[in-house]
Amino acid sequence: MREGSLEAPTRNALLWKNDQFYDEEACIDELERIFDICHGCRRCVSLCNSFPTLFDLIDEGESGELDSVDVTDYWKVVDQCYLCDVCYLAKCPYVPPHPWNLDFPHTMLRAKAIQFKKGTRNKTRDTILSNTSANGKFASIPVVTETINFATDNKILRSAGEKIAGVHKSAWLPKFTKKTFEKNFEISDDYAVQDGKLTKGKVAVYATCYINWNEPGIGHDLLEILKINKIPYKVVEKQACCGMPKLELGDLDSVEQLKNRNIPKMVNLAKNGYVIVSPIPSCTLMFKQELPLLFPDDQDVQIVGKAMMDPFEYFRARMKDNLFKLDFRSGPGNVSYHVSCHLRVQNVGQKTREVLEKLPDSAINTVERCSGHAGTWGIKKEFHEMSLKIGRPVFRQMRTHKNADNGAPDIIASDCQLAAQHIKQGIGSEADDRVKHPLTILAEAYKNDQQGSKP
Ligand code: SF4
Ligand code: SF4
Repeated sequence: MREGSLEAPTRNALLWKNDQFYDEEACIDELERIFDICHGCRRCVSLCNSFPTLFDLIDEGESGELDSVDVTDYWKVVDQCYLCDVCYLAKCPYVPPHPWNLDFPHTMLRAKAIQFKKGTRNKTRDTILSNTSANGKFASIPVVTETINFATDNKILRSAGEKIAGVHKSAWLPKFTKKTFEKNFEISDDYAVQDGKLTKGKVAVYATCYINWNEPGIGHDLLEILKINKIPYKVVEKQACCGMPKLELGDLDSVEQLKNRNIPKMVNLAKNGYVIVSPIPSCTLMFKQELPLLFPDDQDVQIVGKAMMDPFEYFRARMKDNLFKLDFRSGPGNVSYHVSCHLRVQNVGQKTREVLEKLPDSAINTVERCSGHAGTWGIKKEFHEMSLKIGRPVFRQMRTHKNADNGAPDIIASDCQLAAQHIKQGIGSEADDRVKHPLTILAEAYKNDQQGSKP
């Protein structure tokens, strides 16, 4: 058998509705099969803590092979995986079409799903943290917003929160807003639709929970860019969470319920010729890749998946169609730009970097490595220190900028705003006020000064 696949990776559907899927013994067999292969390979040792945990367990065992590892310790490897997908799409030579058919992240997901059904110690905390829609709705109620935002910064309450709720007292947490995106966005003007060779001329925006309840300014900047380019848009109405936080827990029944709420609204837009963009890479990935693999027979899911694009993937293609305005009036200066894992695994190349490089007075320092934030994983008490450790090389590379006179960037940016905030925490006070989303950078470049974006 040939060593490693030379073909582009493909991916098999995750048949989680089959009886076998929740069969723990069958899952353990598959874990053993892939753990053995990984131990012989070790290519992924630096990606996250799953692989070092696995290799240490095996190497420190009596025989130095998997047979001397206690099966109950397999779950330690599973717990360290936050389903970034990088080992599958960026590293592993044994994924399909290779006959070994290795899918490390989806095997971790299967194990998490079995664990979730059985009920874990932290199930209540994990379920609450992953209810992003419900949390956002509650936190945007006047008075509640102020109370939660106050608690976020209060050391005594955060210590209590760590003890009671298991959220690490030092982890960055987002602030909530009463001026939610869905209630305050500007309706699109009635521009004529201009399709290009590569791009459709009208856009639907899946805003995401984070933009709606935490940082609506990024969503307003996205709409501003569309408006400047005379691209008519719609915002997906009454959207529910994309389901990624539930997927990360292995709560696949909840993923299906959310899918059933979102897809009927989104499929009509896709069928009516809209390209659908979302400003958070994890949410884009969910619709583009994860849901199509979880629901391979659902035609509407497949249609929505094909209509999804990362915003910068769309803008770059629009530039190639000569349908994107390039008359920028100001530039961002030195930007340290981080490519998040969930953007990386969309396999679209570095489109954000390519667009930012078109701005005047811009020098982009690109860092393509996991920041360690990983959704809700990095704020949990038991994983936060590890998430900072994983992110340390990124913090180092983002803190410096080889083209800046003083060696420091003017702006710290990531397509994943949660990763950007985690990076800011990892860098420390010298990163204060320097985090800016790439959509904000682009919207501001159309203006004469850098102060024009909405909060
Ligand atoms: S999916 Fe990401 S976190 Fe999980 S094992 Fe692979 S690289 Fe590590
Ligand atoms: S996932 Fe693939 S590349 Fe990574 S250690 Fe295992 S076999 Fe090697």
